[in-house]
Amino acid sequence: MGEIPYFVNLDEALEICNRTPVQTVVERVNLDHCHNRILAVDLPSMVDDPPFDNSAMDGFAMRYEDTLEPPTTLDIIGTIQAAGQEDDITVGAGQAVRIMTGAPIPKGADSILQVELTSVEENKVTLQQPSMKHFIRRQGENLTKEQVALYSGTYLTPSRVGLCATMGHSSIPVVKKLNVAIISTGDELKQPGEELERGEIFESNSFGLAGLVNWLGHNATRLHSVGDSLDNLREVLNEASSNYDLIITSGGVSMGDWDLVRKIMEDEGDLHFWRVKLRPGSPPLFGLWNNTPIFGLPGNPVSSHVVFRMLVAPWIRHATQAKGPIEPRAFARLATNVKPTKDCLTLRRVNILSENGELSAHQKIHQGSGNIASVAMSEGMVILQPGREYSIGDMVEIMFL
Ligand code: AMP
Ligand code: MG
Repeated sequence: MGEIPYFVNLDEALEICNRTPVQTVVERVNLDHCHNRILAVDLPSMVDDPPFDNSAMDGFAMRYEDTLEPPTTLDIIGTIQAAGQEDDITVGAGQAVRIMTGAPIPKGADSILQVELTSVEENKVTLQQPSMKHFIRRQGENLTKEQVALYSGTYLTPSRVGLCATMGHSSIPVVKKLNVAIISTGDELKQPGEELERGEIFESNSFGLAGLVNWLGHNATRLHSVGDSLDNLREVLNEASSNYDLIITSGGVSMGDWDLVRKIMEDEGDLHFWRVKLRPGSPPLFGLWNNTPIFGLPGNPVSSHVVFRMLVAPWIRHATQAKGPIEPRAFARLATNVKPTKDCLTLRRVNILSENGELSAHQKIHQGSGNIASVAMSEGMVILQPGREYSIGDMVEIMFL
């Protein structure tokens, strides 16, 4: 392998990947299309939020000092349902204005009482208790104009897109989506829907990997899978490197004679490392093909999924200056035995339950790296440090699937 780092631990692998940047472009996108995109600027509010003092309740607005000895009866001098209607109303002593939630507070009023605590007879309202000053939502109490509320690198979750609208932005500068080519390799692969001959399986990795790319807010294209032929592989890699920002392959990176992705990267590519101390998923490689970053993921479906989550996703987030999406790690109590390995960070797929006020991790399903059901039917993975012993009852770190 010469100088090329071999069988590195995950942190080293990430550090090597992180040395390779990706050309990111900023584009302005209509708010409707900003969901799950990466904000590219620090975003200041264009307005105070709220823009004016308004009522937090449906009820009446009045002078607090008039309401201190309930029951109090006040004259209703008008109704304010929306902005503009308060312009020529001033609430004086012994007076009240009917007001709706969100409507501007009229001059003279400094408090609200909700409608449930009042009774109305003709043009008079009787209050059962003193009115409340804190039912006035003050101008700028959430955000003031020019205040930055969302920072560059933030993933635009639904509530954040709503916040962009509240701040007055109709379009937002976001990181242009990366275009990611996904190439699966192997003579045995058929697309779902085709007839399987003996020895063939349905190609599944590219579907899961495309979903993971989308989950990170980018575009995935599943290129036709290639058989185990160096010429075909070279042709597809050349095509992918001229049209995409990133190439992800699956299969063909192990030690075998037919592991052609590894072979072609060794002989013709720019290989940055091969093999990582990660189980499942030890065979991956990373490098450049015609200057385009390429991850060679293992063919085993669990391995390709795990390597994406542990290596590809952190690199994509780093390369696009994204913070998150937050992948919360948590701790759970081991309810079953799980097997670590001597020299690899090891991930076992577990069901996670909430029991007795804490999370518990149950390994129930066959852990083979070919068993994608072990990922699909689990809620999380326990993260087992190399060389450590684990017993039932121990607290272990988990990540959610
Ligand atoms: P490989 O890394 O090419 O030796 O493949 C390892 C295992 O993963 C073999 O059992 C392959 O049949 C299987 N495999 C490879 N690619 C895929 C794929 N795209 N979808 C499902 N299984 C695959
Ligand atoms: Mg193969």
